[in-house]
Amino acid sequence: MCVFCKIISGEIPSKKAYEDDSVLAIYDINPQAPVHIVFMPKQHILTSADGINEENCEIIGKIFVAIAKVAKELGLKDGYRIINNCGAAAGQTVAHIHFHLLAGKDGMSEHMI
Ligand code: AMP
Ligand code: ZN
Repeated sequence: MCVFCKIISGEIPSKKAYEDDSVLAIYDINPQAPVHIVFMPKQHILTSADGINEENCEIIGKIFVAIAKVAKELGLKDGYRIINNCGAAAGQTVAHIHFHLLAGKDGMSEHMI
């Protein structure tokens, strides 16, 4: 089981930011910005290049709805970045599709995570 599937199952503890039937969001263990939350589908999907298809793509919209809800709850009025690293060469270290929500001064900088 991948690390995010273990978090979803509760085998690895996490600080949850959001949860519904199909989406989980957790505070990143190694934050790269004042607000750094990782959104993932509860279903194990590798990447957008290798796993997203016509049948399961609705989950991406659900993740973006969840991001908007959390951003509103946290009062992120000055904007934020949503980042998906697709593939190891692009910096993906966990092989379970996820979207980083970054906000705050550092979240607006040029650096990539
Ligand atoms: P990526 O490099 O795009 O694959 O992002 C994976 C992210 O997951 C990194 O920012 C890690 O810090 C984060 N991460 C890895 N393990 C955990 C964990 N157990 N709890 C919270 N965040 C984690
Ligand atoms: Zn997984």
